[in-house]
Amino acid sequence: MPRKILVTSALPYANGSIHLGHLVEYIQTDIWVRFQKMQGHTCHYVCADDTHGTPIMLRAEKEGITPEALIARVWQEHKSDFDAFHIEFDNYGSTNSEDTREFAQSIYRKLKSEKLIEIRSIEQFYDPVKQMFLPDRFIKGECPKCHAKDQYGDNCEVCGATYAPTELINAYSAVSGAPPERRNSDHHFFRLSDPRCQEFLREWTRSDTLQPEASNKMQEWLGGSGENKLTDWDISRDAPYFGFEIPDAPGKYFYVWLDAPVGYMGSFQQLCKDAGLDFDEYWQQGSNTELYHFIGKDILYFHALFWPAMLQHAGYRTPTRLFAHGFLTVNGEKMSKSRGTFITAKSYEEHVKCTEYLRYYYAAKLNGSMEDLDLSLDDFVAKVNSDLIGKYINIASRSAGFISKRFGGMLARREQVGTQGMALIEAFIAAREAIAQSYEARDFSRALREIMRLADLANEYVNDKAPWVLAKQEGQEASLQEVCSVSLNLFRLLTLYLKPILPKLAEQVESFLNIGLLSWADAEYPLFAHVIKEYKHLMTRLDPKLIDAMVAANKESLQPAAESRQRHAAHQQHTAAKDAAQAEKDFEPFISIDDFTKVDLRVAKIVNAEHVEGADKLIRLTLDIGEEKTRNVFAGIKSAYAPEELIGRLTVMVANLAPRKMKFGLSEGMVLAASGDAPGLYILSPDHGAQPGMRIK
Ligand SMILES: [Zn+2]
Repeated sequence: MPRKILVTSALPYANGSIHLGHLVEYIQTDIWVRFQKMQGHTCHYVCADDTHGTPIMLRAEKEGITPEALIARVWQEHKSDFDAFHIEFDNYGSTNSEDTREFAQSIYRKLKSEKLIEIRSIEQFYDPVKQMFLPDRFIKGECPKCHAKDQYGDNCEVCGATYAPTELINAYSAVSGAPPERRNSDHHFFRLSDPRCQEFLREWTRSDTLQPEASNKMQEWLGGSGENKLTDWDISRDAPYFGFEIPDAPGKYFYVWLDAPVGYMGSFQQLCKDAGLDFDEYWQQGSNTELYHFIGKDILYFHALFWPAMLQHAGYRTPTRLFAHGFLTVNGEKMSKSRGTFITAKSYEEHVKCTEYLRYYYAAKLNGSMEDLDLSLDDFVAKVNSDLIGKYINIASRSAGFISKRFGGMLARREQVGTQGMALIEAFIAAREAIAQSYEARDFSRALREIMRLADLANEYVNDKAPWVLAKQEGQEASLQEVCSVSLNLFRLLTLYLKPILPKLAEQVESFLNIGLLSWADAEYPLFAHVIKEYKHLMTRLDPKLIDAMVAANKESLQPAAESRQRHAAHQQHTAAKDAAQAEKDFEPFISIDDFTKVDLRVAKIVNAEHVEGADKLIRLTLDIGEEKTRNVFAGIKSAYAPEELIGRLTVMVANLAPRKMKFGLSEGMVLAASGDAPGLYILSPDHGAQPGMRIK
């Protein structure tokens, strides 16, 4: 029975570029959708840019353009990145559309008539200079628990405490720097704490809607039976705000997270209009179509609680299942700008060009769980070259030429193929069920293991029969045609099984084999007595130099610093031998700007400070400079500071000073302090608003 399926990926925010982390989700979804389409099911894949909220509004203002102009430009960038990676949406929309507005407003009205909306006055921070209420992330101040400075309005990065922004000490606006005022404002809440929502969500999560890991998370959020751990959700924001105005509430806007998932409906509605589909068939309560949301595990809360509760009580169907995935790491660590592993889709495209390499690698790692996925760059090169080129492409490149040159492109007739060849073809055909099951379960790694096992069998066959030897022997014409025809049939079946992952390559193979678009059912019909076209090169090896160049190009400002590190080390040894007075005389009257830029000065946050046993001048500082790892620095400032008064402060450090091994451990840089002839020592502090890792120049 053909199924009717609607699939979505999470909406990327229109405030930044698509990077390799995002692509884990879009590639995963696209593979699954292509697989469903090949099965002959009706499957629609929609997505959109997520366009509303304060960050978009402020960024547009900073660029001196309207939010509409900003989101139109970003939409183009996102769409072109998705195209390059062969992510084939049936519709790619924008949440800033009339369709989405209408759905958001009608859902709100229905929730209101169900008495699930409540208006409450809440006290919030207001920026008197900017004349706007401030989202939690735009307020900073001193942590009420540990007194660390410059902490965000929702949680402290030093001690980990969470609190309301109103609890911050000496709060200031991250937008204008002004001390914010507390003002009251009416906010609209979705009453998730209502017993109807609780009951529904308990029921919904008991059904087969979530992966086991996600289901466990839900039980945690919901609490045990009799408990009510869900709190109401604040769905409104005050003007100025870039978004949709709430009906009958002038100056109040829907919070961006309310209309983001509604964007799935808006985008699908656009597809319905364009393709003449029936929207209600997919969204009405009791619909027998299927609805799947692919999401990152970080937005599970929105999709597993708010979204189904909203749909249920607004009279729509709820999702069939949520498919959550983990995050991307590169070389086993979080993506990092300083290591050059924060790689945008565009940069990959420019350096590596072939985007199917990455589709293949991600597929080989995806298993349908919420585990993180590691892109190990060396393994990436090795796997692409050994599997795709060495095993798969190789089968065609060793057989196709003989068919063209010796047999006018004609494959052998069925009767010409002996039992060994037929048995192999039959074994490949028989594998289709198991491979399909792995795809269906989103266990693409298992599907690929099976496909590569088949590729190994095909290569054994070709090696064993050695068509290049047969070609030189007298009277072996029929054998040569048979062997090459069998191996091209095996190649065709491998291509069919790989097609959800490698759609572009499959297209080239379809053209070379002179056949129509391969669907899953075609597996049962091998090609005999069929004329193929001349073989053209399908895919080249991945040159590791391309990866090196990509990583180098993505190493931001740390690049020149890294190059100069060696020279620095030499310089430091040289000067260490001299006393301070001598060093003083070494000052040149002028240095060039190049000399200055060799010094990588960074804003650093002191996340910890402690005494060093056995050292009477030193304090051990743990510094956060926006990198994955903190730095350890021994600073001779004990005479002027107690360690506890340093924790949480921002200061300035030399980040590219060669690491120095001291008696107490490795010192990985230097903090800057001022001193003169009079006693006293003063470490530097940047102005309010500076962030750890910012470069000083
Ligand atoms: Zn704290």
